[in-house]
Formats: sequence, structure tokens, C-alpha cells
Amino acid sequence: MSTVSPPPAAWSGSDPWPRDASGELLVGGRPLARVVDAVGSTPCYLYDRGRLTRRARALREAFPAGVLLHYAMKANPMPALVCHMATLVDGLDVASAGELRVALDTGMPAEHISFAGPGKSDRELEQAHAAGILVNLESFREVGVLARASERSGTRARVAVRVNLPFELKASGMKMSGGARQFGIDAELVPDMLRAIREADLAFEGFHMFAGSQNLRHAAIVEAQAKCYDQALEWSDLFPSPVRSLNLGGGFGIPYTPTEAPLDLAPVLDNLAALAERAGKDLPGAHLVIELGRYLVGEAGVYVTRVVDRKISRGQVFLVVDGGMHHHLAASGNFGQVLRRNYPVAVSASGEGGEREVASVVGPLCTPLDLLADRMELDHAEPGDLVAVFQSGAYGRSASPRAFLSHPDAVEALV
Ligand SMILES: *Cc1c(COP(=O)(O)O)cnc(C)c1O
Repeated sequence: MSTVSPPPAAWSGSDPWPRDASGELLVGGRPLARVVDAVGSTPCYLYDRGRLTRRARALREAFPAGVLLHYAMKANPMPALVCHMATLVDGLDVASAGELRVALDTGMPAEHISFAGPGKSDRELEQAHAAGILVNLESFREVGVLARASERSGTRARVAVRVNLPFELKASGMKMSGGARQFGIDAELVPDMLRAIREADLAFEGFHMFAGSQNLRHAAIVEAQAKCYDQALEWSDLFPSPVRSLNLGGGFGIPYTPTEAPLDLAPVLDNLAALAERAGKDLPGAHLVIELGRYLVGEAGVYVTRVVDRKISRGQVFLVVDGGMHHHLAASGNFGQVLRRNYPVAVSASGEGGEREVASVVGPLCTPLDLLADRMELDHAEPGDLVAVFQSGAYGRSASPRAFLSHPDAVEALV
């Protein structure tokens, strides 16, 4: 949790989303207030279908042949959104049996669904096997459970080995490998794991390597993906059967402040093309897989609240809104951030016209942690006005403590 407030950082320049002539924010091409009225209430999360489509299409078209794009559902598991994403990507990655049910409901073939996560229960593993999806193994216990399920059903469980790499993804917002981790199998134990898979006669399909999340540095991503590839090849003598899928993770980040530059994709794509070409020779018949959550959906979502009260405390303006950290923990700075930084926030047109002021946007919870914007320059706002938090399509509602203080939940809509 962040305890020290850094100096205020305004999202200067233009809003991430367009406005109409009256200054009202546009969502899916329509004025925000109209969209909110149609959705029925604030606070709400709005996900822009057009933005989701454009991002996924552009990326998939830019991917070299032999590289598949998966959507990691935990970034945003809203069923309607996952259904939409399922039409745009090659596969879905789930992290629980609950996500698996939503993934199967989309109509995505089980062939293209995979399951990763520490602590998969026996029940979840059996469900995954029965559904016919690929399980990314993260312990020797999982091999035993799937071996028994395979024997009972007469169908070999599909498995890949999730590797805890001997390195971490440099400069990533959240590191998921390197050192001692609960995720995956330590690289030094992978030979034993491959032997265990062979002995249990499971259907080996490849490897899953996820080094970290929220990375904006292309050089770090390129280096990690190349290392992952080389690492997998080191075990080639031990593969129980040919590799069909080599998941190199993802971790592509999105900018949250004006000082962060968007990820430069060109070098990442060049590297993937080179790796795919090598895989054509080293691993014939295998696909490379890139699994992304935040990068695909993060910039397509906006969290919308309404101003309930406007207070001035010792010279500082506070806009008290009807939503907050209980719906959007990440925007409050309490979702693993080391330093709290404001998400891009804007007031939709109030009709007052143009006057700017420095204000803090706070939620209704009785805790100082409930802070959506710390002393940002915003348009003047009054009770009834709408305040939007951008870059909110990933790790929003589902990653927030919604029961905390028993306020109403946030509505979600795909627009
Ligand atoms: C969380 C997670 C992802 C998605 O990460 P993003 O940073 O949202 O792209 C992908 N794969 C695994 C295994 C994860 O745990």
C-alpha cells in the first residue's frame, strides 16, 4: 500500500478520449451523459466495443505468421466483454474454474483455452480435463491429479509446463518470475517434471512462461521473450512429445500518466518474427503464443462516477463522488503500486464552461485511501456532474474490494 503522496501530477494535454463541441466526453461516439442514462446508474464501467475491436485487430494483423494472440481473462472477466474478445483473438487464458465457465460460454473451442494459476484444486483440474482445455502445470501434485483423471476417463489430459524462469522481466510493474515464486515449476526442476509427465502418460503440448506484467520497455520484453525461447530449447532432448505450443507470456503495458510513453511495438514484433522463424526449424508444428490482458482491454474502459458533494477544506477542493476504491482499487493506488500516481481523470462538461481548478476526487468510503485523483487540474465540477477515470478497462471492478463499506456495486456495460 502506498503511504506517501507524491507531488500532484496532472494528466495534462488532451484527454485520452474525444469530446463533442459542448465539451462533453464521447463514449462509443455518444455523449457520456446519454450513455450513462441508458446504462441506468452511476458508478459504472463502460467498455468501448470499437476500441476493443481496433486494438485486438491491429495487434493480430501485425503478429507474424505462427504467433497466436490469447486474451488473459483475469484482466477483465465481464462475460459480454469476454464474448466480444473471443471473436477477436486466437485463444483465451483462464485462471480459475469460474473463468473457465465464462470462456466455454463464449464458444471458443476448448482446444484454444488454457488454464494457469497456483493452487488449482483437484476439482478445478478435473473440470479442466473434462472440458478438454490445456492445463499449465505448476506443481507435481497437479500431475498426479490429472493422471488419475486421465486413467478414469480414458482420455489423456493436455498439459504444458509453466516455468518459473531463472530471471525476472526487467522494469515490469509486477514481477511474476525469477527467484522463489509460487508460480510455475522452477527451471531447475523442469527435467524432473518432463519425466513425470512422460511416466504419467499425459499429453504434453509445451511450455508457458510469464515473466511479468505492465511493461512499457520494449527492450526488456524482447530480451525476456528471447531468453524464454532459448530456455525451452535447452530441454529439447527431454520433450515427451513434440512441442505444439510455446507460450512466451506478454506483459505489454499501457501508459497511466502523461510521462509514460506507450510501448513501442515494432521491435517486439520484429523479435517475434525472428523467433517464429527459428521455431519453424527448431520446433516444427509449434505455435508461439502471446497472452495479453491489460494491453488488449485496459485502454478501452472508463469508470464513471457522479459528483455527490463539493467541499473545500482549508483551501483544497474535494469532489466527493459516488464511486471509489471499492470499485477501482487500482485507480486509488492500492493495487500493488509502490508510489501512488493519478490515473487520467476528467470532468465531463458541466455546462459551466471551461474554468479549470485543482481538485481532489474522493469516494464515499470512510478511509483516506479512497482517493481517485490527488490534487489534479480539472474542469470545475458541481454535484450532479460526471467524472471519468480513463485506462480503466483492466483490473478494475473484478480486482476491487466491492463489499468494503457495503455501497452499491458498479454496473458494467459494453457500449
Ligand atoms: C495476469 C496474467 C496475464 C495477464 O497479464 P497482463 O499484464 O494483464 O497482460 C497473463 N498471463 C498470466 C499467467 C497471468 O497471470
